[in-house]
Amino acid sequence: MKKRLLTGLQPSGELTIGNYCGGIKQVVNYQDEYDTFLFVPDMHSITVPQDPDTLHRRVREIVGMYLACGVSGTENHIYVQSEIPEHANLSWILECNSYMGEMSRMTQFKAKTEGKKEIGCGLFTYPILMAADILIYNANYVPTGADQKQHVELARNLAQRFNSKYGETFVVPEPLIPEVGAKIRDLLDPTKKMSKSAENPRASVFLTDPEKTIRKKIMGAVTDSGEGVVFDEENKPGVSNLLTIYASFSGCTIPEAEKHFEGARYGDLKKEVAEVLVVFLTDLQDRFAEIMKSGIVDETLDSGRDRARAIAAQTYDLARRRVGLGRV
Ligand code: ATP
Ligand code: MG
Repeated sequence: MKKRLLTGLQPSGELTIGNYCGGIKQVVNYQDEYDTFLFVPDMHSITVPQDPDTLHRRVREIVGMYLACGVSGTENHIYVQSEIPEHANLSWILECNSYMGEMSRMTQFKAKTEGKKEIGCGLFTYPILMAADILIYNANYVPTGADQKQHVELARNLAQRFNSKYGETFVVPEPLIPEVGAKIRDLLDPTKKMSKSAENPRASVFLTDPEKTIRKKIMGAVTDSGEGVVFDEENKPGVSNLLTIYASFSGCTIPEAEKHFEGARYGDLKKEVAEVLVVFLTDLQDRFAEIMKSGIVDETLDSGRDRARAIAAQTYDLARRRVGLGRV
């Protein structure tokens, strides 16, 4: 039997090139090798306020984008998290086996709540729901960007704890972090990661950005003092980020990208980065527009939901018996 791979993209904003590099690209590369589960974690998105109509629209668009990027809708399981209630059911069981201490250590919780007065409980417990998303399919591998490594680590801990307390139930998952593109940085503040829910849209390139906007954003990216196009994340985070984007979208390594730009100026680097993005994204956008006009997104989601739910229901049933819920 093929090993299982699982990943998700929240419908919390327009997808960025960071989401492509950390999530979608890996799925495209691995989908033949693994039995793949791709889901839209809409329940995670309501940990912060969302407009209901926008959320509905984005769920479909994310699936359209997966398909446009070359992910197969029939070979893989593509589904919406909230349409499979066993995720939330398992999350509750796991929550009752998690500790306040370990949850308080999550760096993303700290980053997302910094300076906020009212902090929703969902933001605090969200990594437990993410653990349920993974464990309910007994996924072996979870492709993500570097930002999600700690959450996959929590899922591992919860699986191990549950297995030793109640008997072997869950596969212990492993993260798959790409060598290039694990952390695409914010164009205006390269000390932060690029995020689809960031406040300033000029900080991110979205997969749906028109050509002009892409060029403008890349030309406006913050670079570093000095000159020389070299990869040095500590001293030249802005230039390193542009090199990473170039390498990810032209399919070369970082040293190859550095060699390509030997002797170049920052302006030359920016022009070429913008060019590779424009070529890649305009082609992607044409395919996306075709897909959104067809009925394929809903067909994919109906079939994905039915196939995924059958697996989720089995795992949940085993877990609830292990802890003594319901009737035997
Ligand atoms: P949000 O701001 O709403 O949290 P996000 O951009 O962080 O959005 P997520 O839906 O949380 O996106 O994550 C989807 C996938 O994209 C995950 O696999 C995550 O690791 C990856 N990812 C997110 N940001 C980046 C980034 N800047 N570089 C590489 N991978 C990323
Ligand atoms: Mg995120």
